[in-house]
Amino acid sequence: MSGALLTDVSPPAAEQPTEAEWAAAVSAITRLPADGRVLLICHVNPDGDALGSMLGFGLGLRQLGVRHLQATFPGRPEVPEPLQAMPGLDLLVPATAADPEPDLVICFDVAAVSRLGDLADRLDRAGAALVLDHHASNTRFGGIHLVDPEAAATSVVVEKLLVRLGVPLDAGIAECLYIALATDTGSFRFDMTTPAVHEMAARLLATGISPGQISRRIFDTRPFGAVRLYGDVLGRTQLEPSAAGGVGLVWTYATLADLARHGQRPYTLEPLIDSVRCTAEADVSCVLKQVTEAEWAVSMRSKGATDVSAVAVALGGGGHRLAAGFTGRGTASEIVDAIRAELARAGRPGPAGEGTPLADLQARE
Ligand code: 5GP
Ligand code: MN
Repeated sequence: MSGALLTDVSPPAAEQPTEAEWAAAVSAITRLPADGRVLLICHVNPDGDALGSMLGFGLGLRQLGVRHLQATFPGRPEVPEPLQAMPGLDLLVPATAADPEPDLVICFDVAAVSRLGDLADRLDRAGAALVLDHHASNTRFGGIHLVDPEAAATSVVVEKLLVRLGVPLDAGIAECLYIALATDTGSFRFDMTTPAVHEMAARLLATGISPGQISRRIFDTRPFGAVRLYGDVLGRTQLEPSAAGGVGLVWTYATLADLARHGQRPYTLEPLIDSVRCTAEADVSCVLKQVTEAEWAVSMRSKGATDVSAVAVALGGGGHRLAAGFTGRGTASEIVDAIRAELARAGRPGPAGEGTPLADLQARE
């Protein structure tokens, strides 16, 4: 039974942060010297969870009286347009201006050092390194880890740490954390939308923030050129029903030429995966987004039958079981070949759902 194979390539089931880890994180902050310098970093090409978790926590640290505070991310210092009205953006500095030797560095939504780009050296040069994340594939690259793979977003971990620090939610913090939570739960549609997620959303909304306005701004507004660009990219989508061990693969790609032709920035490509993944005939969906001539940011999704994080990890990336990604090198068709091969290698879980007694029996066969 191929289910056992799939288990072999999955990252080990990670555990929730321990009390000792929470205590270490709290004391890393409360024991900062009076003029202590803190550098916040989120992953390259930040999304709503990366930026929202980082800026929400930054606003919390500001409330605590931390004065020397910077927030940054590697690569071009460009915030996607829909995120340009977030509270706390005044904390942002370009990576080139980031403190070279802060007393404390805190990473948000970063699963692996590769996602820190040129800022990875801060891990060694800072007095202490704290990692807040929710990826099961997190490689534990810091000194203190608050990694909760069951958290729907990194902002869930952030809110818990703010509570332990005695920082009350205000509307600014709440808006940041709400954007993060809504981003990673697909606006409260995905499986990890637990009762606890809705309870957190209720606490955030109780500060008076406006979910309708936020959603329209973040998720439902794109330039007209982007709509035309989607037409081109979706028009070349390929369906391979027999790929991925028979559960099907659907994929497309967007080039730098596509962006240039429609005058669009790379962030406009992010919603494309949602249009591709709705394909009924495929469990696995992919969008390849060209970053440089021979480098592509790959987004992968599964409807449930495939562990795409195992595929992404095998190809140098990471993520969650049903949503993962990696940076691919070569041509689009070489990268799709590599994905096909990994999907075939990963095999399929049996007809029973993961974790059921029947699936466990099948995995032992
Ligand atoms: P998205 O497709 O929305 O960019 O990413 C889906 C998930 O995969 C997110 O949790 C994201 O952090 C993760 N992910 C995407 N690209 C990479 C990558 O290159 N490396 C790692 N480690 N994770 C990635
Ligand atoms: Mn996240």
